[in-house]
Amino acid sequence: MPVETALKWINCNSGDLIALSDEVWRLAEVGLHELKSAEAQASFLARAGFSIEAGVAHMPAAFVATWGCGSPVVALLGEYDALPGTSQKPVPHAEPFEEGAPGHACGHNLLGVAALGAAIAAKAEMERRLIKGTVKYMGCPAEENAGGKVYMVRDGCFDGVDVALTWHPSSVNSVRLNSSLANHQAKFRFHGRTAHAAGNPEMGRSALDAVELMNVGVNYLREHIIQEARIHYVTTNGGGEPNVVPGVAESWYYIRAPRLNQLKEIYARVVRIAEGASLMTDTKLAVIFPGACANVVPNQPLAEALHRNMLRAGPPEFDPADFEFARQMVGHFPEGQYESSIRRMAQAGIDLTGEYLHRSIAPLSLDRTAMPGSTDVGDVSWITPTAQFGTACFVLGASGHSWQITASSGMSIGHKGMLQAAKVLALTTLEVIEDADLRRRAQSEFEREKGGEAYESMIPPHVIEPPDPFAVSKH
Ligand SMILES: [Zn+2]
Repeated sequence: MPVETALKWINCNSGDLIALSDEVWRLAEVGLHELKSAEAQASFLARAGFSIEAGVAHMPAAFVATWGCGSPVVALLGEYDALPGTSQKPVPHAEPFEEGAPGHACGHNLLGVAALGAAIAAKAEMERRLIKGTVKYMGCPAEENAGGKVYMVRDGCFDGVDVALTWHPSSVNSVRLNSSLANHQAKFRFHGRTAHAAGNPEMGRSALDAVELMNVGVNYLREHIIQEARIHYVTTNGGGEPNVVPGVAESWYYIRAPRLNQLKEIYARVVRIAEGASLMTDTKLAVIFPGACANVVPNQPLAEALHRNMLRAGPPEFDPADFEFARQMVGHFPEGQYESSIRRMAQAGIDLTGEYLHRSIAPLSLDRTAMPGSTDVGDVSWITPTAQFGTACFVLGASGHSWQITASSGMSIGHKGMLQAAKVLALTTLEVIEDADLRRRAQSEFEREKGGEAYESMIPPHVIEPPDPFAVSKH
């Protein structure tokens, strides 16, 4: 399959792609507030001939860029949200640009731009060889907090898509089949009655008692749910001062399980425990929806295609300055961090002892176990065959969501991993568009993995747009 034009486009335009990723890195806008980052990418795509549908799924920072005609339709997923409190200069030791400001501590500036570059590169190849099909870049906001893709799925942005491809910046070049945990969040807000805690406590109905009793109930529940499930909570409102019986109190729960039907059952039991706590304390319960996402449905034929094309594109070509940067950064890691991370990778079959940057490509991992985290890619993978991979954009052993990730996402290590990812995505997009048999195999694997279970959005019908986690709390 000739793909020279696609690869040439990425090589010739690497300077513009790097400049765009650095612009998004500097903007460092948090989830649902990535308006300038979305605008910069949408206008880049518009200049390249894509038509733009802005503000989709009731989110100003969400957009869909489309080029081509008819089927097959391949969607490339992009993200561009930053994380609060992770500002950092592109240097190998901790040094924020601005203390407490947001930073790209998950590398999403690279994530979006690689997908964008791949979409335009695939277009260049399709134009030259008159290949029929449609390429879409999905501008997906708020992966880290609200789960923008879940809303885009619900509102039909992925309707008609044959295959979705994505990637995530990583410390290693690898394609894995692992699933993730489905996650349902909920805030349990109890309304009681305030009273003087010493003077007339008999008139009070403590909302905090309800929060505490609910936690006790859930902690007993743990023994009677599946081993792989996870439940964690924080108290977001525990009252004001001890001499006032708390009239309002609230906890925020994350409930996770490997599959949607398991999650649904455990979530329902947690809600019943909250109802029980409200009954015991004579308080009223309100259940508030902050977000949810499904588990990832793995797709082996697509993962094999990604791995094939990763071998074709080769690993990122780091130079001596990159290795020196990485060596210095490892010297600034907290004690034991590098060693424990290298040990974990060795257990997963990738032995990189003594290395600072990953310079080869890991063998394709066919392990389908759910990784103990969650992503909104999960919802996309329930409605269309989806696959993902990682390229080395971070120093080996770097800690997720830390200054170490922000630093390398804004300099040449991240840039090189991003350009490789763009090539892998472009090559795989073209393969999917040109190979009907691959699409058929991906589709039958998709049906088999779902095992007859129907996908249903976890967003309650009355929730139109994602709640903004950075809005000032009203309670
Ligand atoms: Zn991320």
